Amino acid sequence: METIVILGSTGSIGCNALQVIKLHQDKYKVFALTANGNVDLLTEQCSEFEPQFAFALNREANQQLKKNLLALNSKTIVLDDENSLDWLASHKETNTVISAIVGAAGLKPTMAAANSGKKILLANKETLVMAGELFVKAVKQSNATLIPIDSEHNAILQVLPQSKKLNYKSNGIRKILLTASGGPFRTSTKEELKHVTPKEALRHPNWIMGKKITIDSATMMNKGLEVIEACWLFDIPASDIEVVIHPQSIIHSLVEYVDGSTLAQLGNPDMRTPIAYALSHPERIESGVLGLDLIKTKRLDFEAPDLDKFPCLGLAYKALHIGNNAPTILNAANEVAVEAFLNESITFNQIAELIEFCMDAVEPQILDSIETVLEVDSKTRHLALSWIDCHNLTS
Ligand code: NDP
Repeated sequence: METIVILGSTGSIGCNALQVIKLHQDKYKVFALTANGNVDLLTEQCSEFEPQFAFALNREANQQLKKNLLALNSKTIVLDDENSLDWLASHKETNTVISAIVGAAGLKPTMAAANSGKKILLANKETLVMAGELFVKAVKQSNATLIPIDSEHNAILQVLPQSKKLNYKSNGIRKILLTASGGPFRTSTKEELKHVTPKEALRHPNWIMGKKITIDSATMMNKGLEVIEACWLFDIPASDIEVVIHPQSIIHSLVEYVDGSTLAQLGNPDMRTPIAYALSHPERIESGVLGLDLIKTKRLDFEAPDLDKFPCLGLAYKALHIGNNAPTILNAANEVAVEAFLNESITFNQIAELIEFCMDAVEPQILDSIETVLEVDSKTRHLALSWIDCHNLTS
């Protein structure tokens, strides 16, 4: 029986993961569930999956969780300590950690899992963007296993030679093609993008996801973060990664080989498929997702991304090119910008402006420890917040 910790169980990925696990309770045992503040859903999940431990980062939510579980006579122990996420991720009884917290908050516990040699099913791409080199090094040193949940990277893993997983060198690979839906504004003009609202940006055409990644998809920063993620996961240079717009989100990514073959993974846009493959890799298990109906799908379209309309994608390539702390700055500035856009403090187009400002303003620095990464993250956030104060639409 594989024991599983889900960091961020109440989110979109967390809920999908629990749906897949529910189909295979003979194979997987939920050891711990964690959230931030969604205490009602966490209580429900604890009562259904009976984990040994649960934790909500928000103090009030955690107290409420304790009360709720006590009233339900639950055997689940609610942890108190502020380091509970790291403790669970590295617990000796934990086999697998599903890293599904959104944003920089996922970094420390995912690092804890890496340092203690766990099997990590990674949805939290921000870990690789903020601290790719340190994280990959920790995975190697502790002999941890790293499997991507992100549908594009999971697709690449599926079409790579299985004997030499997660490494493209000497596998005859010419390039990786990352597909992108293009988001809700694919056909909008640059002028129209000036006036889009959070409500419009949250209307993703194909995927139902958390708010942050949905906005990242609308700006195409999500694809930029994924390019950085792919570089670290597959040890491939950015110059060998091409982004292709594919509005139907049926092809989840492709690998081109030196003999001219291009292999793709196709499926309905449903995260239970990559989650099931990550859980069972290299085997396959039922995910609850229906197979593709090609006749109904009818057509698959492709186009090049418009970097002028979506500058965030170009900024991610620039951060990769600069290296060192540039991707960490990009990530922190983006997180602050997305939140500010959702609060209607800045416009959609100001997201990229703010990120570019931070990338120019924060000095380059070598990232030699997670503490340094967190310092860069915090410095960038302060700077981004002061930029917003000067440009705030509501003040
Ligand atoms: P959601 O916003 O839906 O869920 C986030 C989860 O993290 C929730 O459980 C939330 O708890 C918890 N959380 C939020 N803030 C904190 C914090 N500070 N400390 C601890 N826990 C916290 O996000 P998604 O599921 O959409 O995304 C999760 C990650 O997976 C992201 O990195 C995203 O980029 C990646 N991803 C997501 C995909 C998707 O389809 N959704 C696809 C590919 C990658 P609470 O509910 O209590 O707030």
